[in-house]
Amino acid sequence: MAETLPRFPLSAKVTALRGVGPVFAEALEAAGILTLKDLLWSLPHRYVDRGSLQPIGELDFRPDPGEREIVTVLGTIQDLRQSTTRVQRMNLTEALLGDGTGSLRLVWFNQPYLGKQLRAGDRVLAFGPLASGRHGLEMRGPAFELMGRGGDDGQLWVRRFLPLYRKLGPVLGRARQKLVQEALARAAEPEEWLPAELARSVPGTLDALRLLHQPPDDSDPAGLDARATPAHRRLASEELFAFALGVTLRRAGRLARRGLAVPTSPELRERLKAYLPFTLTRAQRQAFKEIVGDLTSGRVMHRLLQGDVGSGKTLVAFLAMAMVAETGGQAALLVPTEVLARQHAATVRKLLKESAGGMELLLGPMKAAEKRQALARVASGEAAYIIGTHALFQEAVTFSKLQLVVVDEQHRFGVRQREALKQKGLDPHWLVMSATPIPRSLALALFGDLEQSVLDELPPGRQPIATRLLEPGGAERAWAVVEQQLEAGRQAFVVSPAIDPQDEGKVPLRDIQAMEALLRARFPGAALAVVHGRLKADAMAERMDDFVSGRARILLATTVIEVGVDVPNATVMVVDHAERFGLSQLHQLRGRVGRGEARSHFLMLSASDSDRLRVLVETQDGFRIAQKDLELRGPGEFFGTRQAGLPQFQAADLVRDRQLLVECRAAADRAVQRGLSEGQLAWLRQEQARLKLAEIS
Ligand code: ADP
Ligand code: MG
Repeated sequence: MAETLPRFPLSAKVTALRGVGPVFAEALEAAGILTLKDLLWSLPHRYVDRGSLQPIGELDFRPDPGEREIVTVLGTIQDLRQSTTRVQRMNLTEALLGDGTGSLRLVWFNQPYLGKQLRAGDRVLAFGPLASGRHGLEMRGPAFELMGRGGDDGQLWVRRFLPLYRKLGPVLGRARQKLVQEALARAAEPEEWLPAELARSVPGTLDALRLLHQPPDDSDPAGLDARATPAHRRLASEELFAFALGVTLRRAGRLARRGLAVPTSPELRERLKAYLPFTLTRAQRQAFKEIVGDLTSGRVMHRLLQGDVGSGKTLVAFLAMAMVAETGGQAALLVPTEVLARQHAATVRKLLKESAGGMELLLGPMKAAEKRQALARVASGEAAYIIGTHALFQEAVTFSKLQLVVVDEQHRFGVRQREALKQKGLDPHWLVMSATPIPRSLALALFGDLEQSVLDELPPGRQPIATRLLEPGGAERAWAVVEQQLEAGRQAFVVSPAIDPQDEGKVPLRDIQAMEALLRARFPGAALAVVHGRLKADAMAERMDDFVSGRARILLATTVIEVGVDVPNATVMVVDHAERFGLSQLHQLRGRVGRGEARSHFLMLSASDSDRLRVLVETQDGFRIAQKDLELRGPGEFFGTRQAGLPQFQAADLVRDRQLLVECRAAADRAVQRGLSEGQLAWLRQEQARLKLAEIS
C-alpha cells in the first residue's frame, strides 16, 4: 500500500525511513548521509552484471605475465576457518565457496574481523583476482557482498544489475540496498530547477535516481560503469549548474563593487618597463595591459595570472606592484616560504635600484625590535613594497594605503587572506599567480569568477631541458652528468622524496640520509647543502643562501625547493624515486633548471611507473602535462589537498564532465540575466552547503 503512505521531500531525514536503527543511523551520519538526498546521491560505486558471473567449475587460470584475472562468482560458504600462518605469524581467513559446479578457496590475510562478518551457509558474491595456490584455484583478498543468510536468500538480486555501495562501517550492503529502495519508493519528485535547455535531454531527478540505483535489465553496462548515461547527466547537471550559478553570481557581485582606480599614464608605464633588463614577451605585455586595465577601471581587480614555469609571471606581478607603488599606494606580495620572500626582495631591489620606494620584508620569525620598526614603516606608508609570508596578514599589521595584493604560487585561492583583510575594512586589488599551469577546463571551473591572463610563451632563448628517465641500475649515468656539470663550474640539485614513516617497510625507499651519504661518497670535493621540511627557518635560509651564492655546489632537498627558487647557474637536477611525484610537480621541479644560457639536464630515477613518467620526456609544455596529470589523478590529487577549496561533487566529475560544465556555465549566465526566483536561490543555497562550494571572492 505504498501509494497511501506520505511522500517525503528529499530534504527529509533518513531516519524518517523504516529500518534505520541506531547503529545504522550512526554509520550513515559518520558518512555524511543525513537526508534522503544525501542517501540517494551516494551512487553505487559499481554494478555486478549477472551475465558476468562465472560458474566456479568453469574457472580456468592461465597466468599472463603481469596480468591478473579478476572474476566474479556467487556461491555458498561451505566451510570457514581462521588460523595463524606458521612463517610470518599472520592471521589467515579461509572460506570454501561452492556453487554446485565446483568450489573455490577465498583467502584473506590479517582481517580477523571477517570471522565475525561471515559464517558457513552464507550466500556470498565475491570478486577478486584468481591465483593458483597449493590447493588449486583460489582468490586472494577478494571484495565480497553478503547476499543472503539462513532462509533469506539473496532477495535483492531480482534484476540483472546488482548495485554495490561503498562500505558503511558495520552496515551490510544489503541493508543499504533495502534502505535505498525504501527511499526511492517514498521520495517526492523535487521541483525542477534546471533551465529547460539543460533539462530537455535528461530524465527527471527521481527517474534518474531509479535508473542508477536499480538499473533496468536493458541498461548499457559500459555506460553505467563509465557514468555516462542520461541519468548521470541529469544528476551531474544539477550539481554543475548550482556550481556555475554560484560562480556567476559571485562574479556579478564583484563587478558591481567599486574599487580604487590607480592613476596611471603612458609615461609611467614606459618608465616601469625601463626598469627591466630585457624586453617583455608578447604574452607578458598583453597580461600587463590587462592588469593595468583592471587597476584603472574603478572596479576591484580579481585576476588569475597563470603560465608555465619560467614564463615570467613574477616579473609581470612586479610591474603591477611598481605601478601602484609609484603612484603613492602600497603593494603587498604574499609568498609561501621565507626563502622565496627573501629572494623576491632581492629581485625587487635589483630591478628598482634606488628608485624603489621603501621595501619591507615581513616574516614570521623576526626580532621584536626589528619587527616593530618594520610594522611602523608599513603603517606610515614609508614602505611601498611589502613582501612576506602569511605574517603579512597578522592582526598587528596596519597598512596605510594598501591597494594591491599579489598572491604568489601555492596560496592558490588566498580566500582566508582576503577574509583577513576584509576584517580590517580593506578591499584591495587582487592578483593570484598559480604555481602550476592549470588546464583550461579546470581553470574555468574553479576560477570562473576571476579574470584570467595566461602567459603562453617563454622568454626567448630558452633551450629545452634534456630530460631522461633512468632505472636505478642506470643511476651512474645520472651521476656522470652531475660530475661533468660540476667540473664545468655549474651547480646541481638532487631531490629526494619526503618519506612518511608509515611507508617504511612497504617499498624499499632511499631516504634523504642515504642519499646524502651517497653524494658525499660520490662527490667528495663538492660542498653539499641539505634542506628539508623539518629544518628551522634560519638554518634553512642559511643553507639556501650557501647554494644561491655558489658556496655549496650541490643542493640536496625534499620538495621544499619546488616553488620558485631561482639559481641560473644550476644546470642539472636528479630526482630520486620519481614515481613518488605527480607529473605537474616534476615539471615544476624541472623548471628550477634551464634558467640560464647553458644547456640543462633533468634526470629521473625510477624503478616503476615509466609510462606515466615518460610524458615528461615527451613534452615540456606545462599545460599538456597538467592536463595529463589531471586525467590520471583527478582534481583533488592534482591540487594536492582537499583544502584547496574544490567542490565535493557526488555525481559530477570535473574531468569527465568538463563539456557539460561549459554548457552549465552558459546556462547559468542566461539564468542570471533572466533573474533568479526565490525558490531557485533557496535551492542554490542548499546545494552550496551540500557540495561545500568554495567562496572565492
Ligand atoms: P615564473 O614565475 O613564471 O616561473 P619568473 O618570473 O621567475 O617565471 O621568470 C623566470 C626567469 O625568466 C627569471 O630568471 C626572469 O628574470 C626571466 N625572465 C622573465 N621575463 C623575461 C623576459 N621577458 N626576457 C628574458 N628573461 C625573462
Ligand atoms: Mg615564479
